[in-house]
Amino acid sequence: MRDRYAVVGNPVAHSRSPQIHAEFARATGQDLEYGLIEAPLDGFERTVEEFRRQGGKGLNVTVPFKEAAFRYCRKASRRAQAAQVVNTLVLSASEVLGDTTDGIGLVTDLTRNIGFDLGGKKLLLMGAGGAAQGVVQALLDAGVSQLMVANRTMSRALALAARHGVEACGYEELQGRSFDVVVNATSAGLASDAPGLPDSAFKPGALAYDMVYGLDTPFLVQARAAGARAFDGLGMLVEQAAESFFVWRGVRPDTRALLARLRSGQAL
Ligand code: NAP
Repeated sequence: MRDRYAVVGNPVAHSRSPQIHAEFARATGQDLEYGLIEAPLDGFERTVEEFRRQGGKGLNVTVPFKEAAFRYCRKASRRAQAAQVVNTLVLSASEVLGDTTDGIGLVTDLTRNIGFDLGGKKLLLMGAGGAAQGVVQALLDAGVSQLMVANRTMSRALALAARHGVEACGYEELQGRSFDVVVNATSAGLASDAPGLPDSAFKPGALAYDMVYGLDTPFLVQARAAGARAFDGLGMLVEQAAESFFVWRGVRPDTRALLARLRSGQAL
C-alpha cells in the first residue's frame, strides 16, 4: 500500500496542497498519495486518530485546527514549541510529532524567491491567528531589527507579542509609524476586506506580502498604490509544503519550476 498523507481542515476543498504534493512526489520519485480531509469543527482529534489508525503517515493541518494540532501532538519540534501551532503532523502507531513549516516557508519565499534581505528591517505583522503565530520566530531568526504585531482583537496581538518579546498595537495606533516590510497574515482578503492600515505604514520602496494567494486583495491594491512592491502568498504555500515534504520523506523537492508553473496558470 502507498504511504498516505492528507491535509485536514474545515473548509478544505479549496486547498491546493494535494496538487502540490502530488507534483513533489512525481518529481522526486516518491510513491505516496495525498488527499483532502474535512474534519467536523468539533472532531479534529477523532478525525486524525482515525487516519492514524488506518496507517496514515502524515497530515498538513489548516484553518481552524492549527492550535488544536499543537495540543494534540505528543512531541513538538522546537519551531512548533516556539509557535504553539502545528501545520505538519508526522504519524506512526507509536508517535505523533508536530512541526510548523509556515515560518520557514514565508522566510524562504521572501529571501530566496523574491530576493529580499530581511536583515535589519522593520517589519509589521498584521494578524495574530494560526498563520501569524507560525511565522514570528522564523522572522526574528531571519534577523529583522523590529517586529510589531497588529491585530483587530488586541488581546490576541498582546499575547502573541509577549510570547516572543516583541511589540503589539491596534491598527489605529499605526499612524505615524512606517515599516520596510508589511506582512498581512489576516484572512481579511478572502472577504475582499483589509485591515485598517494607514498608507504611511509603507516606507518608500517597502515590501508588502499577503499570505492569501491567488487574489488581488484590497491590501495588495493599497500597498501598490502606496508605492510598495506587493506579493501574494503563493510562494509561501509552495515553500511550506516543500518543508513538510522534507519532514515526512527526507527529500527536498525543487520548488522553483513548480512555482513558475503555478504563477503562469499552467495546470499541474
Ligand atoms: P485564523 O487563525 O482564522 O486568523 C485570522 C486572522 O485574521 C486573525 O488575526 C483575525 O483577527 C484576522 N482578520 C480576519 N478578518 C479580518 C478583518 N476583516 N480585518 C482585520 N483582521 C481580520 O487564520 P490563519 O490560519 O491565521 O490564516 C490567515 C490567512 O493566512 C488565511 O487567509 C490563510 O489562508 C492564509 N495562510 C496562507 C498560507 C500560505 O502558505 N500562503 C499559510 C497559512 C495561512 P481577529 O483575531 O481580530 O479575529
